Amino acid sequence: MKFQIFLFALPLFLFTACESVAQDATAPFEQKKLPYAYDALEPHIDAETMEIHYSKHHAGYVSKLNAALKESGKEDQSLKDILGNVSQMTDAVRNNAGGHYNHDLFWSVLSPDGGEASEELKKAIDDSFGSMDKMKSQMNDAASTRFGSGWAWLYVSSAGQLAITSTPNQDNPMMDAVQERGTPIFGIDVWEHAYYLKYQNKRGDYLSAIWEVVNWEEVSRRYESAKNDSK
Ligand code: MN
Repeated sequence: MKFQIFLFALPLFLFTACESVAQDATAPFEQKKLPYAYDALEPHIDAETMEIHYSKHHAGYVSKLNAALKESGKEDQSLKDILGNVSQMTDAVRNNAGGHYNHDLFWSVLSPDGGEASEELKKAIDDSFGSMDKMKSQMNDAASTRFGSGWAWLYVSSAGQLAITSTPNQDNPMMDAVQERGTPIFGIDVWEHAYYLKYQNKRGDYLSAIWEVVNWEEVSRRYESAKNDSK
């Protein structure tokens, strides 16, 4: 009987252990494996864009982050701590820590079969924005009016409210250097490298396509976790 309980609890323990390792991990940082094939999000995001984005751009942020941390002697800090104190860091750490965190989140919140938002998340979206469609249109506004390169974010504010913001470059709401702070649960990369091969200058077409491949199960999981952290 004891052994059966052990077998039952083992996967849960391993899962929890992996989660905490990811949260507390320090340099050298590593890129997680992409959770789907490069062509899995076709036709919305093309395979060539995915491959270059993951294997060149994201990989580049990770290796430059490790180099920048080594140079500034900050190798003992977790990514969360780095972002939370980024105003004290070099520009190289800020840009590449953001680049790593943001892309790691981005791959996880996309999926060819992402299911539906949880009842809790749907209710929070209705409460904060009026409806799912209004939330999407507010996100699209934030993403399309971001001048140059940056991100649009759906995030849980420090007060526990769902909100939308956008940030330039590789900044994000986890950083102490930005105005609107909190925990992002979904983000849209609006750097041209995220869409130019397929959509060229038509950022709006890319934004419409993104909503077809949202991993709502992962966004809901992130919502739950961010809500718990804000309590
Ligand atoms: Mn990108």
